[in-house]
Amino acid sequence: MPLSVYDTLKREKRVFEPQDPARVTLYVCGPTVYDYAHIGNARPPAVFDVLFRLLRRRYGADHVIYARNVTDVDDKINKRAAEAGVPIGEITARYEKAYLEDMGRLNVIAPTVAPHVTDHIDGIVRQIGDIMARGHAYAAEGHVLFDVDSFTDYGQLSGRSLDDMIAGARVEVAPYKKNPADFVLWKPSKENEPEWPSPWGPGRPGWHIECSAMIEDVLGLPIDIHGGGQDLIFPHHENEVAQGRCAHGGDTYARYWMHNGFLNMGEEKMSKSLGNVALVHDLVEQWPGEVIRWALMSAHYRAPLAWTSDLLEQSKASLDRLYGALRRAKAVEAEPVDPPHAFLEALEDDLNTPRAMAELFALAKALETAESGGARRQAKAELMAAADLMGVLTQDPDAWFEAGIDPAMKARVDALIEARGAARAEKNWPEADRIRDELNALNVEVMDGPAGATWRFRS
Ligand code: AMP
Ligand code: ZN
Repeated sequence: MPLSVYDTLKREKRVFEPQDPARVTLYVCGPTVYDYAHIGNARPPAVFDVLFRLLRRRYGADHVIYARNVTDVDDKINKRAAEAGVPIGEITARYEKAYLEDMGRLNVIAPTVAPHVTDHIDGIVRQIGDIMARGHAYAAEGHVLFDVDSFTDYGQLSGRSLDDMIAGARVEVAPYKKNPADFVLWKPSKENEPEWPSPWGPGRPGWHIECSAMIEDVLGLPIDIHGGGQDLIFPHHENEVAQGRCAHGGDTYARYWMHNGFLNMGEEKMSKSLGNVALVHDLVEQWPGEVIRWALMSAHYRAPLAWTSDLLEQSKASLDRLYGALRRAKAVEAEPVDPPHAFLEALEDDLNTPRAMAELFALAKALETAESGGARRQAKAELMAAADLMGVLTQDPDAWFEAGIDPAMKARVDALIEARGAARAEKNWPEADRIRDELNALNVEVMDGPAGATWRFRS
């Protein structure tokens, strides 16, 4: 069964064939680390984490190299550091650490490499030099600009003509530009901004060149899959293609382009500039990470996703159902198996996570209705294998339900169980029975074992 993905450049679903199955390369534009990520920012890492898991399964974990960069040079970072009166590195280290912790709570596997812009300035300067040497960029007033008229395929990825770009005012007009659509590869730094030496004067890289140069440094050109949010298609990815191809004259920069749709709050996209953000850092304190992950996967990745508290409630209920089935099957021994065909078919059809979720429910149902021990073992094994590819059901089912219990309720039940133990030790049977009735009324099931009593809510 092939893996198919929708390719933004070719505008169709295509069977994925890596350049070299022993070295599959994936790059996703990562965070700019100046603040906590909002839940919209978590959509690309969550979506491409599912892809990373699928690729690892197909080609072997050691044969997939996934790079997600960290942008640690940026105006917003400089501003934040200046406001806080601390060095830039302190801001970037703080928010990168928080980002990684929060993604970990969502079961996002760490990428193979996480290149930082500040570690790749040499590669950036080298790539700019290569682009200039081939006649695709020019220096002017301390800047280096990409000459869009020199690259006939410019606009192919986003499907825009140069006239559209200029008319759409998505480009900055400046006197030193030959064409208003020419974009910056290198620019002078302002006062108190970090700066590095270059053949064109001291300064810092433009945003787009960072990604194409880091890709060349850590993965090599061309790569198999390049991903990111839809908002990055133009100008960021259009410009990356121009740079990456013009540096060496190749006809391919990324063999497949994948873009996730936006996460919206009401009618608007979630974004810091609109001030309508829910931070991942806060959400992981309020909800189990798997609930947030489930919510992010509940829509197909290319569709818009409406973020609501209802969505989180429903996601929690869905996972409760699956964990409930696993809890009732706790004693069933399951050996590792391959995920079932129908489930894989859903995910390998351009990451159809909603359909894959429906398959998870079907597997849970098969587990609950299986009539023989063998069928139960197989159903549980398949459910676990499928869930693993989705990055969910990683917890012990009892721990899952316990984590959702209100601490006051937990303390009350624990106290009742202790009192019941004491009554029994004193052979005060009427009191022990009375407490048992009280626990029953709370829907608590008590299990007396060799190590004392344990309990759970009946499901
Ligand atoms: P930024 O920090 O704005 O550069 O965004 C980091 C990543 O998050 C990029 O891949 C964006 O495309 C993506 N992104 C930002 N906002 C949203 C949103 N509301 N929904 C989905 N993806 C988003
Ligand atoms: Zn990028």
